[in-house]
Amino acid sequence: MIRLKKDVVIVGAGISGVHAAIAAGKAGLDVLLVEREGSVGGISTLGLCNPFMRFWLDSGSLVGGIFEEILKDLARRGGLLANSFDSEIMKIIYFEKLKSAGISLVIHSIPIEVERCGRLIKSVKFFSSQGSAFEVEARYFVDATGDATLSYMAGAETFQGDESGSNQAMTLMFTVSGIDYARVREDIKSNGENFFAWVKPDFEIMSVAGYFEEIERARKAGYDKLHNYFFFIELPGSGRASVNTTHSFDKSAVDPFELSEAVTDCMAQTDQLITFAREYVRGFEKSGIEKIATLMGVRESRRVRGLYVFSGEDVKAHRKFPDGVVRATYGIDVHNRSTQRVSEEERKAIPVYNDYYEIPLRSLISADLDNLAIIGRCFSSDFSGQSAARVMPTVAGMGQAIGRVLYQAISRGESLSEIAIDGR
Ligand SMILES: Cc1cc2nc3c(=O)[nH]c(=O)nc-3n(C[C@H](O)[C@H](O)[C@H](O)COP(=O)(O)OP(=O)(O)OC[C@H]3O[C@@H](n4cnc5c(N)ncnc54)[C@H](O)[C@@H]3O)c2cc1C
Repeated sequence: MIRLKKDVVIVGAGISGVHAAIAAGKAGLDVLLVEREGSVGGISTLGLCNPFMRFWLDSGSLVGGIFEEILKDLARRGGLLANSFDSEIMKIIYFEKLKSAGISLVIHSIPIEVERCGRLIKSVKFFSSQGSAFEVEARYFVDATGDATLSYMAGAETFQGDESGSNQAMTLMFTVSGIDYARVREDIKSNGENFFAWVKPDFEIMSVAGYFEEIERARKAGYDKLHNYFFFIELPGSGRASVNTTHSFDKSAVDPFELSEAVTDCMAQTDQLITFAREYVRGFEKSGIEKIATLMGVRESRRVRGLYVFSGEDVKAHRKFPDGVVRATYGIDVHNRSTQRVSEEERKAIPVYNDYYEIPLRSLISADLDNLAIIGRCFSSDFSGQSAARVMPTVAGMGQAIGRVLYQAISRGESLSEIAIDGR
């Protein structure tokens, strides 16, 4: 069996894991990044997720560094339209940046065994889909799996769902081409009340949610898989959009059987949605499916208990911390059965972004294992805190912060908790 020694092993190459790897690699650490899929980016590429949720205030961007470099690279290659991006160009950029940061990347591999020594992870054994195993010892491990799989396997405390244990809904995203946006804008201009109040016909990129009246009519005509609104976001290119409308409720993303049922169900919803759009949505008459995500959109599954549990109260209070390492402004955003029933008040609500909150370093450090960092959507948070901080710019920020902190830990011989207590 192949045996390796590294400074840092990162499991999961979603947007958080990729940012962590690039930051640690650029700082000079020897990093192994292990990913179960055949490409990198997780939900940000294979999940077809778009756009980057709000990461700026009037005073400017809240997330700089590698994230900002990636935005510039996307723009240079024609892959950025305001805050929406092309997932395929994003993949190319991730691979290019990982290579230039000197990262060892292994795809199609998963952890199968974690060896612990007290409060430390000593090594992790991985298995590749080609049938071979490899074992890696490292000083630090980073769980960027989204589902907290490494932490769970290592015996760290994890929790999931809301007070009743229910997870957020999952969504299988798909992209559409052939949209006539002039007709979409015209429709919004003349039927404003048929959309959420925040939808405007003169957006720089069209982010559209509503079609309440069409959904009602389609349901009467026999469409039985529609949700209470149809939601899409314009993508770079001509007449393209990413559709964020399928929903699977009450299924666990960490149960392989339930996850498979959820994908099957969302696939049938996708089929019905595109037929609905072509028949009922002005501007979609000649549209068709371009791509369906190869990775289910899991908003929330397991979360790890860290030295601090970031909360919805922290979001609402725009709380700042002495060890704050990421700044964010996106608010609480829960998709479950109850939030699918759109009230009059919700239709009229306009989100306000006038301050930021911080994510403390302590919420990125396991409470149980001293050399385990947790980033991305499985970081240490309560249900509503996670619902705000899970968005791509914020989890990218967590990744680049932890990469920097791991360099500090290794180069100065300080523990993660010492660095957190001393402040960033
Ligand atoms: C439907 C949906 C819509 C969203 N919309 C938006 C939006 O509009 N704007 C926005 O900013 N954010 C949005 N988000 C949130 C955001 O996309 C995700 O929370 C974010 O991309 C998560 O990044 P991550 O790196 O934490 O996890 P993931 O993207 O889940 O990455 C985890 C990575 O780990 C890999 N992995 C998992 N388990 C293992 C294992 N055992 N071994 C090896 N590798 C493993 C996965 O394959 C994946 O590559 C949305 C999320 C969803 C689900």
